[in-house]
Amino acid sequence: MKKKSRPQVSGGDPDAPTDKEWAVMKKYGSFGITDDDNEDHLFKTNDMALLMPDHAVASNQLELHEFWVAKIKEIRARSEEDVWARVQWYWSGNDVAGLIKSFDPSNCGSYERIFSDQYDYVSSQSFNGLANVRDYFEQELAQPNIGEDDFYCRYTLEVKGRKFDPKPNGTCICAIPYNPDDTSEESIMHFCPRPNCRKAYHRRCLVKASYIDTTPSANLPTRLLASSPDSDDPFEFPSYEPPRKKQKQIIRRGSESMHASTTTTNTKTKNRVTLPSASPEPEDLLSVLPADLVKVAEQPIIKGGNAGIVGNVTYVVNARRLVYEALTEGRVPTDWVDIVDVAKGVVKTVGGKIPALLCPDCQGPI
Ligand SMILES: [Zn+2]
Ligand SMILES: [Zn+2]
Repeated sequence: MKKKSRPQVSGGDPDAPTDKEWAVMKKYGSFGITDDDNEDHLFKTNDMALLMPDHAVASNQLELHEFWVAKIKEIRARSEEDVWARVQWYWSGNDVAGLIKSFDPSNCGSYERIFSDQYDYVSSQSFNGLANVRDYFEQELAQPNIGEDDFYCRYTLEVKGRKFDPKPNGTCICAIPYNPDDTSEESIMHFCPRPNCRKAYHRRCLVKASYIDTTPSANLPTRLLASSPDSDDPFEFPSYEPPRKKQKQIIRRGSESMHASTTTTNTKTKNRVTLPSASPEPEDLLSVLPADLVKVAEQPIIKGGNAGIVGNVTYVVNARRLVYEALTEGRVPTDWVDIVDVAKGVVKTVGGKIPALLCPDCQGPI
């Protein structure tokens, strides 16, 4: 991207109002514009907006990620034809690299933006459309849906102090952050969901540092499933028959019967599962649960590559919690498919088998 600085807080746009003039301009709640494709757009206070970069000729010649992104803080006007917005800028990785030499913009995605504390007065003529900007907190278990045309933001930047929150050092042993645009298999991040960990590691770094599970008889899927998002100890498979409750409905195996039952029962109900008693093996217990639910719960938690920006974190975490609940309470909610997207939860491998990796912190499987 050609480096050209944004309009600065004072004097960037010669027509921009001064702070003194701004203070007496009439306030508005919204304004409208027509873009280069003759489409009308309405902008309101607190909207996230796409703005024309000052080197651009026409908006229809730009890729979406090439637009500047800002949050509209206030709208004021000198007249109906001369409308201005006070905006707070989202910076791109390249913008940040222009300010901080040590910042490597290649660790940012093209749709990534860093929320700065820099404000400007911008003419309504510079606005092009609304932007979707999703907050992305990498350590959280419930992840937002970040679509292909969505911007996302995982850091804020205090411009004068050059301070990031959180620090853009990533959580991997290499101290290089996750780059959501790097789609290579070895760059896929493996996430440890345990409360004391909640960190993601590059696959290549784990392999290189030999964080590999060599337990001879390790049943990796079951070990992964037992890695709990809510406890630093592995989930303990019950060795007793769980307490029985009144509801009669019994689910035997597979998700087909679950789907069938959701059409005839209240979505808030939970289906009883009959768990084998007399010291069952984990595999015996899991075999009576919906097969797809178990399959998702047994996946490594990953992001990047063909798993997408936020990966399968949310779905695998939800699936593990549901499986633990089923095994301890003897019930599966009929609407489990609403919180576990099987297609997005199951890892699609391209380069063959995923290595059995260990978390450098807790040594649990990831
Ligand atoms: Zn790494
Ligand atoms: Zn861990």
